[in-house]
Amino acid sequence: MDHVHGHSEELRAAARHFGRRRFLTTTGAAAALAFATQLPAAGAAAAAELDGRRVTEDPFTLGVASGDPLPGSVLLWTRLAPRPFEPDGGLPARRVPVHWELARDDRFTRTVRRGTATAHPEFRHTVHVAVDHLDPDRVLYYRFRVGDWTSPVGRTRTAPAAHAHNAALKLAAVSCQAYHDGYFTAYRHLADEDVDVVFHLGDYLYEYAVNATGGARAYTDRTLPAVFARETLTLEDYRLRYALYKSDPDLRAAHAAHPFVVTWDDHETENNYAGGVPENGVPPEEFLLRRAAAYRAYWEHQPLRAPQRPDGPDMRLYRRLRFGSLAQFDILDTRQYRSDQAYGDGWQVPGPESEDPARTLTGAAQERWLLDGWQASRAARWNVLPQQVVFAERRDRATADFKLSMDSWDGYPASRARILAGAEAAGVENLMVLTGDVHVGYGFDLKADFRDPSSRTVGTEIVATSIASGKDGADRPSNHDRLTAANPHLRFVNGRRGYVTVALGRESARADFRTVPYVTKPGAPVTTAASYVTEAGRPGLTPA
Ligand code: FE
Ligand code: CA
Repeated sequence: MDHVHGHSEELRAAARHFGRRRFLTTTGAAAALAFATQLPAAGAAAAAELDGRRVTEDPFTLGVASGDPLPGSVLLWTRLAPRPFEPDGGLPARRVPVHWELARDDRFTRTVRRGTATAHPEFRHTVHVAVDHLDPDRVLYYRFRVGDWTSPVGRTRTAPAAHAHNAALKLAAVSCQAYHDGYFTAYRHLADEDVDVVFHLGDYLYEYAVNATGGARAYTDRTLPAVFARETLTLEDYRLRYALYKSDPDLRAAHAAHPFVVTWDDHETENNYAGGVPENGVPPEEFLLRRAAAYRAYWEHQPLRAPQRPDGPDMRLYRRLRFGSLAQFDILDTRQYRSDQAYGDGWQVPGPESEDPARTLTGAAQERWLLDGWQASRAARWNVLPQQVVFAERRDRATADFKLSMDSWDGYPASRARILAGAEAAGVENLMVLTGDVHVGYGFDLKADFRDPSSRTVGTEIVATSIASGKDGADRPSNHDRLTAANPHLRFVNGRRGYVTVALGRESARADFRTVPYVTKPGAPVTTAASYVTEAGRPGLTPA
Protein backbone atom coordinates (compact mmCIF):
# COMPACT_ATOMS: atom_id res chain seq x y z
CA MET A 1 0.00 0.00 0.00
CA ASP A 2 1.34 3.39 -0.94
CA HIS A 3 1.54 5.90 1.83
CA VAL A 4 1.07 9.52 0.91
CA HIS A 5 2.15 12.08 3.42
CA GLY A 6 1.22 15.40 1.91
CA HIS A 7 1.10 18.58 3.92
CA SER A 8 -2.22 20.29 3.64
CA GLU A 9 -2.66 24.04 3.65
CA GLU A 10 -4.16 23.87 7.13
CA LEU A 11 -1.17 22.07 8.53
CA ARG A 12 1.20 24.33 6.67
CA ALA A 13 -0.55 27.32 8.20
CA ALA A 14 -0.40 25.78 11.66
CA ALA A 15 3.26 24.95 11.21
CA ARG A 16 4.01 28.55 10.20
CA HIS A 17 2.08 29.84 13.18
CA PHE A 18 3.78 27.55 15.67
CA GLY A 19 7.04 27.18 13.84
CA ARG A 20 9.37 28.78 16.37
CA ARG A 21 7.70 27.46 19.52
CA ARG A 22 7.74 23.79 18.55
CA PHE A 23 4.84 22.65 20.69
CA LEU A 24 5.15 19.09 21.92
CA THR A 25 2.27 18.99 24.35
CA THR A 26 -1.26 17.85 23.64
CA THR A 27 -2.46 21.30 24.74
CA GLY A 28 -0.37 22.82 22.01
CA ALA A 29 -1.83 20.48 19.43
CA ALA A 30 -5.36 21.27 20.58
CA ALA A 31 -4.69 24.97 20.25
CA ALA A 32 -3.17 24.45 16.85
CA LEU A 33 -6.16 22.42 15.72
CA ALA A 34 -8.53 25.19 16.76
CA PHE A 35 -6.30 27.60 14.89
CA ALA A 36 -6.05 25.43 11.81
CA THR A 37 -9.73 24.70 11.49
CA GLN A 38 -11.36 27.79 13.02
CA LEU A 39 -13.30 25.77 15.53
CA PRO A 40 -13.60 27.91 18.64
CA ALA A 41 -15.97 26.22 21.07
CA ALA A 42 -17.79 29.53 21.52
CA GLY A 43 -18.71 29.57 17.83
CA ALA A 44 -21.43 27.01 18.46
CA ALA A 45 -23.69 29.49 20.16
CA ALA A 46 -22.84 32.35 17.82
CA ALA A 47 -23.95 30.79 14.54
CA ALA A 48 -27.32 31.98 13.32
CA GLU A 49 -30.19 29.52 13.02
CA LEU A 50 -31.40 28.16 9.70
CA ASP A 51 -35.10 27.43 9.40
CA GLY A 52 -35.49 23.73 8.53
CA ARG A 53 -37.98 24.65 5.81
CA ARG A 54 -35.07 26.27 3.95
CA VAL A 55 -33.40 22.86 3.56
CA THR A 56 -34.48 22.01 0.02
CA GLU A 57 -32.76 18.64 -0.48
CA ASP A 58 -32.98 15.49 1.66
CA PRO A 59 -30.46 16.05 4.49
CA PHE A 60 -30.61 12.44 5.75
CA THR A 61 -28.28 10.95 3.14
CA LEU A 62 -25.96 9.39 5.75
CA GLY A 63 -28.65 7.56 7.67
CA VAL A 64 -29.26 7.24 11.38
CA ALA A 65 -27.56 5.35 14.20
CA SER A 66 -27.82 4.62 17.89
CA GLY A 67 -25.27 3.45 20.40
CA ASP A 68 -24.08 2.66 23.93
CA PRO A 69 -27.37 1.41 25.43
CA LEU A 70 -27.81 2.06 29.17
CA PRO A 71 -30.63 0.68 31.35
CA GLY A 72 -32.60 3.92 31.07
CA SER A 73 -31.05 5.67 28.11
CA VAL A 74 -30.43 5.52 24.39
CA LEU A 75 -28.06 7.65 22.31
CA LEU A 76 -29.38 8.67 18.89
CA TRP A 77 -27.28 9.98 16.01
CA THR A 78 -27.68 11.51 12.60
CA ARG A 79 -25.95 14.05 10.38
CA LEU A 80 -27.52 16.58 8.05
CA ALA A 81 -25.77 16.46 4.67
CA PRO A 82 -27.86 17.20 1.58
CA ARG A 83 -24.64 16.97 -0.47
CA PRO A 84 -22.44 14.62 1.53
CA PHE A 85 -19.41 14.72 -0.78
CA GLU A 86 -19.08 18.50 -0.52
CA PRO A 87 -16.93 19.88 2.32
CA ASP A 88 -19.82 21.72 3.98
CA GLY A 89 -22.25 18.86 3.38
CA GLY A 90 -24.39 21.21 1.32
CA LEU A 91 -25.47 23.39 4.28
CA PRO A 92 -24.55 26.95 5.26
CA ALA A 93 -22.59 27.59 8.48
CA ARG A 94 -25.81 27.98 10.47
CA ARG A 95 -27.40 26.03 13.30
CA VAL A 96 -30.27 23.77 12.24
CA PRO A 97 -33.00 22.60 14.64
CA VAL A 98 -33.64 18.85 14.34
CA HIS A 99 -36.78 17.25 15.73
CA TRP A 100 -36.52 13.70 17.04
CA GLU A 101 -39.07 11.15 18.09
CA LEU A 102 -38.83 7.89 20.05
CA ALA A 103 -41.65 5.31 20.03
CA ARG A 104 -42.55 1.77 21.00
CA ASP A 105 -43.53 0.90 17.41
CA ASP A 106 -42.04 1.63 14.00
CA ARG A 107 -45.19 3.47 12.86
CA PHE A 108 -44.82 5.90 15.74
CA THR A 109 -48.33 5.45 17.09
CA ARG A 110 -47.03 4.89 20.65
CA THR A 111 -44.60 7.77 21.13
CA VAL A 112 -42.41 7.57 24.22
CA ARG A 113 -40.60 10.89 23.92
CA ARG A 114 -39.93 13.69 21.43
CA GLY A 115 -37.76 16.77 21.41
CA THR A 116 -35.57 19.13 19.44
CA ALA A 117 -31.79 19.04 19.13
CA THR A 118 -29.41 21.40 17.38
CA ALA A 119 -27.14 20.45 14.48
CA HIS A 120 -24.11 22.72 14.81
CA PRO A 121 -21.98 23.67 11.80
CA GLU A 122 -18.88 23.32 14.04
CA PHE A 123 -19.68 19.61 14.30
CA ARG A 124 -20.51 19.42 10.59
CA HIS A 125 -24.22 19.22 11.44
CA THR A 126 -23.93 15.94 13.28
CA VAL A 127 -26.49 15.37 16.02
CA HIS A 128 -26.08 13.36 19.24
CA VAL A 129 -29.22 13.01 21.37
CA ALA A 130 -29.12 11.22 24.73
CA VAL A 131 -32.66 10.28 25.78
CA ASP A 132 -32.73 9.43 29.49
CA HIS A 133 -35.27 8.20 32.07
CA LEU A 134 -36.54 5.39 29.84
CA ASP A 135 -37.65 1.90 30.88
CA PRO A 136 -34.88 -0.69 30.85
CA ASP A 137 -34.77 -3.61 28.41
CA ARG A 138 -37.05 -2.11 25.76
CA VAL A 139 -36.91 -2.12 21.97
CA LEU A 140 -37.56 1.40 20.67
CA TYR A 141 -37.80 3.11 17.28
CA TYR A 142 -36.58 6.60 16.41
CA ARG A 143 -36.54 9.10 13.56
CA PHE A 144 -35.52 12.69 12.93
CA ARG A 145 -37.23 15.52 11.06
CA VAL A 146 -35.95 18.76 9.51
CA GLY A 147 -38.54 20.91 7.77
CA ASP A 148 -40.48 18.57 5.52
CA TRP A 149 -37.74 15.92 5.51
CA THR A 150 -38.07 12.81 7.67
CA SER A 151 -35.16 10.43 8.27
CA PRO A 152 -35.22 6.66 7.87
CA VAL A 153 -36.51 4.85 10.97
CA GLY A 154 -33.93 3.40 13.33
CA ARG A 155 -34.41 0.59 15.82
CA THR A 156 -32.60 0.58 19.15
CA ARG A 157 -32.97 -0.68 22.71
CA THR A 158 -32.24 0.14 26.31
CA ALA A 159 -30.08 -2.24 28.35
CA PRO A 160 -31.63 -4.45 31.04
CA ALA A 161 -31.55 -3.05 34.59
CA ALA A 162 -28.24 -3.51 36.40
CA HIS A 163 -29.77 -6.00 38.88
CA ALA A 164 -31.80 -7.92 36.28
CA HIS A 165 -31.35 -11.69 36.25
CA ASN A 166 -31.43 -11.68 32.45
CA ALA A 167 -31.07 -15.02 30.68
CA ALA A 168 -29.92 -14.19 27.17
CA LEU A 169 -28.12 -11.57 25.10
CA LYS A 170 -27.10 -11.87 21.48
CA LEU A 171 -24.38 -9.64 20.12
CA ALA A 172 -22.55 -9.29 16.84
CA ALA A 173 -18.92 -8.30 16.38
CA VAL A 174 -17.59 -6.59 13.25
CA SER A 175 -14.39 -4.86 12.16
CA CYS A 176 -12.30 -3.65 9.25
CA GLN A 177 -14.41 -2.23 6.46
CA ALA A 178 -12.05 -1.03 3.74
CA TYR A 179 -14.50 0.58 1.32
CA HIS A 180 -12.04 0.18 -1.56
CA ASP A 181 -11.71 -3.58 -0.93
CA GLY A 182 -15.33 -4.50 -1.55
CA TYR A 183 -19.02 -4.21 -0.86
CA PHE A 184 -20.44 -4.18 2.67
CA THR A 185 -22.71 -7.15 1.87
CA ALA A 186 -22.08 -8.62 5.33
CA TYR A 187 -23.76 -5.55 6.83
CA ARG A 188 -26.86 -6.15 4.71
CA HIS A 189 -27.15 -9.59 6.28
CA LEU A 190 -26.29 -8.31 9.74
CA ALA A 191 -29.19 -5.85 9.44
CA ASP A 192 -31.51 -8.90 9.21
CA GLU A 193 -30.00 -10.71 12.22
CA ASP A 194 -31.85 -10.80 15.50
CA VAL A 195 -29.11 -9.29 17.67
CA ASP A 196 -29.39 -6.92 20.63
CA VAL A 197 -26.21 -4.94 20.02
CA VAL A 198 -23.31 -4.73 17.55
CA PHE A 199 -19.72 -4.18 18.66
CA HIS A 200 -17.47 -2.44 16.13
CA LEU A 201 -13.89 -3.37 16.96
CA GLY A 202 -12.05 -0.88 14.77
CA ASP A 203 -10.95 0.11 11.29
CA TYR A 204 -14.34 1.69 10.64
CA LEU A 205 -12.60 3.56 7.85
CA TYR A 206 -9.21 3.46 6.16
CA GLU A 207 -7.08 6.52 5.57
CA TYR A 208 -5.80 5.34 2.18
CA ALA A 209 -6.78 6.88 -1.13
CA VAL A 210 -9.98 5.64 -2.81
CA ASN A 211 -9.96 6.01 -6.58
CA ALA A 212 -12.79 7.22 -8.81
CA THR A 213 -14.20 3.71 -9.33
CA GLY A 214 -14.15 2.74 -5.65
CA GLY A 215 -11.19 0.35 -5.86
CA ALA A 216 -12.26 -3.30 -5.86
CA ARG A 217 -15.89 -2.21 -6.10
CA ALA A 218 -15.06 -1.27 -9.70
CA TYR A 219 -18.05 1.03 -10.13
CA THR A 220 -19.33 1.43 -13.67
CA ASP A 221 -22.40 3.49 -12.73
CA ARG A 222 -20.77 6.36 -10.80
CA THR A 223 -17.53 8.28 -10.33
CA LEU A 224 -16.25 9.16 -6.87
CA PRO A 225 -14.93 12.71 -6.43
CA ALA A 226 -11.17 13.29 -6.58
CA VAL A 227 -11.20 14.39 -2.92
CA PHE A 228 -11.16 10.70 -1.93
CA ALA A 229 -8.11 9.94 -4.07
CA ARG A 230 -5.63 11.01 -1.37
CA GLU A 231 -4.79 9.84 2.13
CA THR A 232 -6.86 11.46 4.89
CA LEU A 233 -4.91 14.05 6.85
CA THR A 234 -7.08 17.02 7.78
CA LEU A 235 -10.38 17.29 9.62
CA GLU A 236 -12.18 17.87 6.33
CA ASP A 237 -10.50 14.80 4.80
CA TYR A 238 -11.69 12.58 7.66
CA ARG A 239 -15.21 14.07 7.64
CA LEU A 240 -15.54 13.49 3.92
CA ARG A 241 -14.27 9.93 4.35
CA TYR A 242 -16.98 9.21 6.93
CA ALA A 243 -19.48 10.61 4.45
CA LEU A 244 -18.18 8.21 1.78
CA TYR A 245 -18.44 5.21 4.12
CA LYS A 246 -21.87 6.17 5.42
CA SER A 247 -23.10 6.69 1.87
CA ASP A 248 -22.99 2.88 1.65
CA PRO A 249 -26.60 1.60 1.93
CA ASP A 250 -25.61 -1.70 3.61
CA LEU A 251 -23.72 0.11 6.38
CA ARG A 252 -26.68 2.45 6.88
CA ALA A 253 -29.04 -0.54 7.10
CA ALA A 254 -26.98 -2.17 9.86
CA HIS A 255 -26.81 1.07 11.86
CA ALA A 256 -30.55 1.60 11.51
CA ALA A 257 -31.29 -1.97 12.62
CA HIS A 258 -29.13 -2.23 15.77
CA PRO A 259 -27.40 -0.07 18.37
CA PHE A 260 -23.62 -0.02 17.86
CA VAL A 261 -20.92 0.09 20.51
CA VAL A 262 -17.83 1.33 18.73
CA THR A 263 -14.14 1.43 19.42
CA TRP A 264 -11.40 2.35 17.01
CA ASP A 265 -8.17 0.74 15.91
CA ASP A 266 -5.41 2.36 13.88
CA HIS A 267 -6.85 3.16 10.45
CA GLU A 268 -9.41 5.68 11.72
CA THR A 269 -6.25 7.76 12.21
CA GLU A 270 -3.22 6.12 10.57
CA ASN A 271 -1.95 2.57 10.06
CA ASN A 272 -0.18 1.11 13.15
CA TYR A 273 0.31 4.36 15.04
CA ALA A 274 1.17 3.96 18.72
CA GLY A 275 0.00 6.68 21.09
CA GLY A 276 1.70 9.82 19.83
CA VAL A 277 4.07 7.93 17.54
CA PRO A 278 3.09 7.92 13.85
CA GLU A 279 3.73 5.14 11.38
CA ASN A 280 6.45 7.06 9.58
CA GLY A 281 8.88 9.82 10.49
CA VAL A 282 6.38 12.68 10.74
CA PRO A 283 7.22 15.16 13.55
CA PRO A 284 5.19 14.32 16.67
CA GLU A 285 3.49 17.72 16.86
CA GLU A 286 2.26 17.33 13.31
CA PHE A 287 1.01 13.81 14.03
CA LEU A 288 -0.93 15.01 17.09
CA LEU A 289 -2.70 17.53 14.85
CA ARG A 290 -3.68 14.71 12.55
CA ARG A 291 -4.77 12.58 15.50
CA ALA A 292 -6.93 15.41 16.83
CA ALA A 293 -8.61 15.78 13.43
CA ALA A 294 -9.21 12.02 13.16
CA TYR A 295 -10.57 11.73 16.72
CA ARG A 296 -12.90 14.69 16.26
CA ALA A 297 -14.31 13.34 12.99
CA TYR A 298 -14.72 9.93 14.64
CA TRP A 299 -16.72 11.37 17.53
CA GLU A 300 -18.82 13.49 15.22
CA HIS A 301 -19.78 10.53 13.04
CA GLN A 302 -20.32 7.82 15.64
CA PRO A 303 -23.22 7.25 18.06
CA LEU A 304 -21.08 8.12 21.08
CA ARG A 305 -22.04 9.84 24.32
CA ALA A 306 -20.79 13.19 25.63
CA PRO A 307 -18.00 11.76 27.86
CA GLN A 308 -16.34 10.46 24.70
CA ARG A 309 -16.19 13.89 23.05
CA PRO A 310 -12.51 14.62 22.34
CA ASP A 311 -10.39 17.43 23.71
CA GLY A 312 -7.78 18.13 21.05
CA PRO A 313 -5.82 14.92 20.41
CA ASP A 314 -7.25 13.20 23.53
CA MET A 315 -10.43 11.19 23.64
CA ARG A 316 -11.69 8.93 26.41
CA LEU A 317 -12.99 5.98 24.38
CA TYR A 318 -12.57 3.18 26.94
CA ARG A 319 -15.76 2.68 28.89
CA ARG A 320 -17.95 0.08 30.58
CA LEU A 321 -21.45 -1.13 29.70
CA ARG A 322 -23.49 -3.60 31.72
CA PHE A 323 -26.37 -5.80 30.53
CA GLY A 324 -27.92 -6.99 33.79
CA SER A 325 -26.14 -9.76 35.68
CA LEU A 326 -25.43 -11.61 32.45
CA ALA A 327 -22.73 -9.51 30.82
CA GLN A 328 -20.31 -6.69 31.49
CA PHE A 329 -18.48 -5.13 28.56
CA ASP A 330 -15.23 -3.31 29.19
CA ILE A 331 -14.53 -1.63 25.87
CA LEU A 332 -10.82 -0.96 25.44
CA ASP A 333 -8.71 1.50 23.49
CA THR A 334 -5.38 -0.17 22.70
CA ARG A 335 -4.15 2.61 20.37
CA GLN A 336 -4.13 5.94 22.18
CA TYR A 337 -1.92 5.04 25.14
CA ARG A 338 0.31 2.22 23.91
CA SER A 339 4.09 2.04 24.00
CA ASP A 340 5.67 2.14 20.55
CA GLN A 341 5.85 -1.23 18.81
CA ALA A 342 8.99 -3.20 19.73
CA TYR A 343 11.69 -4.04 17.22
CA GLY A 344 10.33 -1.54 14.71
CA ASP A 345 6.91 -3.26 14.37
CA GLY A 346 5.92 -6.11 12.03
CA TRP A 347 6.47 -9.83 12.69
CA GLN A 348 9.58 -10.29 14.81
CA VAL A 349 11.33 -12.85 16.97
CA PRO A 350 10.31 -11.87 20.54
CA GLY A 351 13.05 -10.84 22.96
CA PRO A 352 14.03 -8.48 25.76
CA GLU A 353 12.65 -5.42 23.97
CA SER A 354 9.14 -6.82 23.40
CA GLU A 355 9.14 -8.56 26.80
CA ASP A 356 10.11 -5.45 28.76
CA PRO A 357 7.63 -5.33 31.69
CA ALA A 358 7.49 -1.53 31.41
CA ARG A 359 5.73 -1.81 28.04
CA THR A 360 1.99 -1.25 27.95
CA LEU A 361 -0.75 -1.64 25.36
CA THR A 362 -3.46 0.04 27.44
CA GLY A 363 -1.54 2.72 29.32
CA ALA A 364 -1.37 2.63 33.13
CA ALA A 365 -4.62 4.56 33.75
CA GLN A 366 -6.77 2.34 31.52
CA GLU A 367 -5.21 -0.81 32.98
CA ARG A 368 -5.98 0.38 36.52
CA TRP A 369 -9.52 1.33 35.46
CA LEU A 370 -10.07 -2.17 34.04
CA LEU A 371 -8.64 -4.12 36.96
CA ASP A 372 -10.24 -1.87 39.61
CA GLY A 373 -13.53 -2.10 37.75
CA TRP A 374 -13.41 -5.88 37.81
CA GLN A 375 -12.61 -5.78 41.52
CA ALA A 376 -15.37 -3.32 42.38
CA SER A 377 -18.25 -4.86 40.44
CA ARG A 378 -20.18 -7.98 41.20
CA ALA A 379 -18.81 -10.42 38.62
CA ALA A 380 -21.12 -10.75 35.65
CA ARG A 381 -21.71 -14.21 34.26
CA TRP A 382 -19.69 -13.12 31.22
CA ASN A 383 -16.98 -10.49 31.37
CA VAL A 384 -16.40 -9.45 27.79
CA LEU A 385 -13.52 -7.34 26.48
CA PRO A 386 -14.39 -5.76 23.12
CA GLN A 387 -11.04 -4.49 21.81
CA GLN A 388 -8.83 -4.25 18.75
CA VAL A 389 -5.83 -6.53 18.31
CA VAL A 390 -5.26 -10.28 18.78
CA PHE A 391 -4.94 -11.11 22.47
CA ALA A 392 -3.83 -14.76 22.34
CA GLU A 393 -0.29 -15.72 21.44
CA ARG A 394 -0.10 -16.34 17.70
CA ARG A 395 3.15 -17.85 16.42
CA ASP A 396 3.74 -17.76 12.69
CA ARG A 397 5.44 -21.19 12.65
CA ALA A 398 5.97 -24.18 14.92
CA THR A 399 9.78 -24.05 14.92
CA ALA A 400 11.85 -22.40 17.68
CA ASP A 401 12.59 -19.35 15.53
CA PHE A 402 8.89 -18.35 15.47
CA LYS A 403 7.89 -14.72 15.07
CA LEU A 404 5.05 -12.77 16.67
CA SER A 405 3.12 -9.67 15.56
CA MET A 406 4.58 -6.70 17.41
CA ASP A 407 1.37 -4.68 16.82
CA SER A 408 -0.78 -7.21 18.77
CA TRP A 409 -0.77 -8.16 22.47
CA ASP A 410 2.12 -10.48 21.50
CA GLY A 411 4.25 -7.34 21.31
CA TYR A 412 3.16 -6.40 24.84
CA PRO A 413 3.19 -9.74 26.77
CA ALA A 414 3.71 -8.11 30.19
CA SER A 415 0.62 -5.98 29.60
CA ARG A 416 -1.36 -9.13 28.68
CA ALA A 417 -0.10 -11.01 31.75
CA ARG A 418 -1.24 -8.16 34.03
CA ILE A 419 -4.74 -8.27 32.51
CA LEU A 420 -5.03 -12.05 32.95
CA ALA A 421 -3.69 -11.89 36.52
CA GLY A 422 -6.12 -9.07 37.30
CA ALA A 423 -9.06 -11.08 35.96
CA GLU A 424 -8.13 -14.03 38.14
CA ALA A 425 -7.57 -11.87 41.23
CA ALA A 426 -10.99 -10.23 40.74
CA GLY A 427 -12.78 -13.57 40.43
CA VAL A 428 -13.83 -13.02 36.82
CA GLU A 429 -15.58 -16.31 36.02
CA ASN A 430 -15.94 -16.23 32.28
CA LEU A 431 -13.59 -14.01 30.33
CA MET A 432 -14.30 -13.52 26.64
CA VAL A 433 -12.18 -11.27 24.44
CA LEU A 434 -13.68 -9.89 21.21
CA THR A 435 -11.14 -8.85 18.60
CA GLY A 436 -10.88 -7.35 15.10
CA ASP A 437 -7.87 -6.09 13.08
CA VAL A 438 -6.55 -9.20 11.32
CA HIS A 439 -9.19 -9.79 8.60
CA VAL A 440 -9.50 -13.46 9.61
CA GLY A 441 -12.01 -15.23 11.82
CA TYR A 442 -10.27 -16.99 14.71
CA GLY A 443 -11.41 -18.88 17.78
CA PHE A 444 -8.78 -19.12 20.53
CA ASP A 445 -8.59 -20.66 23.98
CA LEU A 446 -6.75 -18.24 26.25
CA LYS A 447 -4.04 -20.01 28.26
CA ALA A 448 -2.62 -19.19 31.69
CA ASP A 449 0.78 -19.73 30.03
CA PHE A 450 0.79 -19.70 26.25
CA ARG A 451 4.27 -21.30 26.24
CA ASP A 452 2.82 -24.37 28.01
CA PRO A 453 -0.03 -26.05 26.08
CA SER A 454 -0.95 -28.09 29.18
CA SER A 455 -1.54 -24.97 31.28
CA ARG A 456 -5.07 -23.97 32.28
CA THR A 457 -7.50 -22.43 29.82
CA VAL A 458 -8.58 -19.14 31.41
CA GLY A 459 -10.91 -17.69 28.78
CA THR A 460 -11.82 -17.53 25.13
CA GLU A 461 -11.14 -15.12 22.31
CA ILE A 462 -13.43 -14.63 19.33
CA VAL A 463 -11.85 -12.77 16.44
CA ALA A 464 -14.31 -11.24 13.98
CA THR A 465 -13.12 -11.29 10.40
CA SER A 466 -13.38 -8.13 8.31
CA ILE A 467 -16.51 -6.75 6.68
CA ALA A 468 -14.55 -5.98 3.47
CA SER A 469 -10.81 -5.57 4.11
CA GLY A 470 -8.76 -8.15 2.24
CA LYS A 471 -11.28 -8.49 -0.62
CA ASP A 472 -12.89 -11.91 -1.18
CA GLY A 473 -10.51 -14.02 0.94
CA ALA A 474 -10.62 -17.80 1.22
CA ASP A 475 -12.17 -20.23 3.69
CA ARG A 476 -8.77 -21.78 4.23
CA PRO A 477 -6.00 -19.16 4.15
CA SER A 478 -2.62 -20.33 2.80
CA ASN A 479 -1.03 -20.20 6.30
CA HIS A 480 -3.84 -22.26 7.87
CA ASP A 481 -1.84 -25.44 8.51
CA ARG A 482 1.26 -23.60 9.71
CA LEU A 483 -0.76 -21.47 12.14
CA THR A 484 -2.79 -24.31 13.63
CA ALA A 485 0.32 -26.48 14.05
CA ALA A 486 2.17 -23.64 15.79
CA ASN A 487 -0.72 -22.67 18.10
CA PRO A 488 -2.52 -25.63 19.74
CA HIS A 489 -4.90 -23.18 21.49
CA LEU A 490 -6.12 -21.91 18.08
CA ARG A 491 -9.42 -23.73 17.55
CA PHE A 492 -10.72 -22.17 14.35
CA VAL A 493 -9.48 -20.22 11.33
CA ASN A 494 -11.51 -18.81 8.43
CA GLY A 495 -10.33 -16.24 5.90
CA ARG A 496 -13.66 -15.11 4.42
CA ARG A 497 -15.34 -11.75 5.01
CA GLY A 498 -18.30 -11.50 7.41
CA TYR A 499 -19.05 -11.08 11.11
CA VAL A 500 -19.57 -13.12 14.27
CA THR A 501 -22.67 -13.44 16.39
CA VAL A 502 -22.30 -14.50 20.02
CA ALA A 503 -25.34 -15.69 21.97
CA LEU A 504 -24.64 -15.38 25.69
CA GLY A 505 -26.73 -17.54 28.02
CA ARG A 506 -26.43 -18.31 31.70
CA GLU A 507 -24.98 -21.79 31.09
CA SER A 508 -23.08 -21.35 27.86
CA ALA A 509 -22.19 -19.04 25.00
CA ARG A 510 -22.34 -19.86 21.32
CA ALA A 511 -20.36 -18.14 18.56
CA ASP A 512 -21.49 -18.37 14.94
CA PHE A 513 -18.91 -17.33 12.36
CA ARG A 514 -21.04 -15.87 9.53
CA THR A 515 -19.29 -15.47 6.19
CA VAL A 516 -19.96 -14.30 2.64
CA PRO A 517 -18.20 -15.97 -0.35
CA TYR A 518 -17.28 -12.69 -2.07
CA VAL A 519 -17.35 -8.90 -1.63
CA THR A 520 -15.87 -7.64 -4.92
CA LYS A 521 -19.34 -8.06 -6.43
CA PRO A 522 -22.55 -7.14 -4.61
CA GLY A 523 -25.23 -9.58 -3.49
CA ALA A 524 -23.37 -12.50 -1.88
CA PRO A 525 -25.39 -14.84 0.37
CA VAL A 526 -24.39 -15.45 4.00
CA THR A 527 -23.71 -18.82 5.60
CA THR A 528 -22.41 -20.06 8.94
CA ALA A 529 -18.83 -21.26 8.42
CA ALA A 530 -18.66 -22.82 11.90
CA SER A 531 -20.20 -22.63 15.36
CA TYR A 532 -18.46 -23.01 18.70
CA VAL A 533 -19.67 -23.15 22.28
CA THR A 534 -18.02 -22.41 25.60
CA GLU A 535 -19.64 -23.44 28.87
CA ALA A 536 -19.89 -21.11 31.84
CA GLY A 537 -17.30 -22.16 34.42
CA ARG A 538 -15.40 -24.32 31.91
CA PRO A 539 -13.52 -21.95 29.57
CA GLY A 540 -12.54 -23.17 26.13
CA LEU A 541 -14.15 -23.51 22.72
CA THR A 542 -15.66 -26.73 21.39
CA PRO A 543 -17.45 -27.23 18.06
CA ALA A 544 -21.22 -26.79 18.47
FE1 FE B 1 -8.14 -3.62 9.36
CA1 CA C 1 -5.99 -2.46 12.36
